[in-house]
Amino acid sequence: MRLQGKVALVTGAASGIGLATTRRFVAEGARVIAADLNVDGLETSGSLRPFRLDVAQEDQWVAAIAAALDAFGRLDILVNNAGIGAPGPIVELSLADWRKVMAVNLDGVFLGIKHAVPAMERSGGGSIVNIASMLGHVATVNASAYCASKGGVALLTKAAALEMAAAGGRIRVNSVHPGFIETPMLGDRLRADPARRALITGQTPVGRLGTVEEVAAAVLYLASDEAGFTTGSALVVDGGYTA
Ligand code: NAD
Repeated sequence: MRLQGKVALVTGAASGIGLATTRRFVAEGARVIAADLNVDGLETSGSLRPFRLDVAQEDQWVAAIAAALDAFGRLDILVNNAGIGAPGPIVELSLADWRKVMAVNLDGVFLGIKHAVPAMERSGGGSIVNIASMLGHVATVNASAYCASKGGVALLTKAAALEMAAAGGRIRVNSVHPGFIETPMLGDRLRADPARRALITGQTPVGRLGTVEEVAAAVLYLASDEAGFTTGSALVVDGGYTA
């Protein structure tokens, strides 16, 4: 019960890494606002409140933080996990698709930090975990918007961590950088493309994809008080891909 008494808001909580993180947090004693564009599959319980949130919309962030305070009376943890990609070469990428990736992956993290921090300060402190990617450290072809946005998340995390430290150090900010993870989205794509799956596992030094539970465990550590002296860090969970 490493999060007993804590209240968390997780974005992109209806699928993949966000869903695994939400489940792990509840299992560790947290009460969680599970925020997503689509919350149809999420059930309400004493510890879990689904909330419809588009992370790119500032007014919806104001409502989401208010919902957390209404439901549970405090906010201790924010996991900025919602993210999207726009595959394809730069010369074929529309400005609209570029901006959509930036709006969700980068504006969404900025807005989450901006609106969660005052609530965390009133709760005595907190931990913010931003889900970036190993593609925030190294690039790959046909993923320019995604790589640029995740590189932005990595440095936004460090900038926010320094600000929070200068403001008294009660709020920590860290990023998690997953490699290829067996999420529904990636897993389905790779089941239809065994050659790509073989390429990816071949490029990953441990020879397999990661699991959503392995990423959730890294998020849990940074969210918990055990990481009390850890801020501004970038925790890589990629089976050695970027080593
Ligand atoms: P996923 O597609 O399984 O889940 C993403 C969730 O985010 C979905 O439920 C979706 O509805 C939600 N979402 C999308 N846009 C949103 C918005 N505007 N507002 C609120 N919710 C929104 O994805 P995943 O693979 O679990 O990825 C989660 C995070 O991890 C993303 O930031 C992704 O970039 C990152 N990541 C994933 C991998 C991987 O291999 N799967 C690797 C590195 C990083």
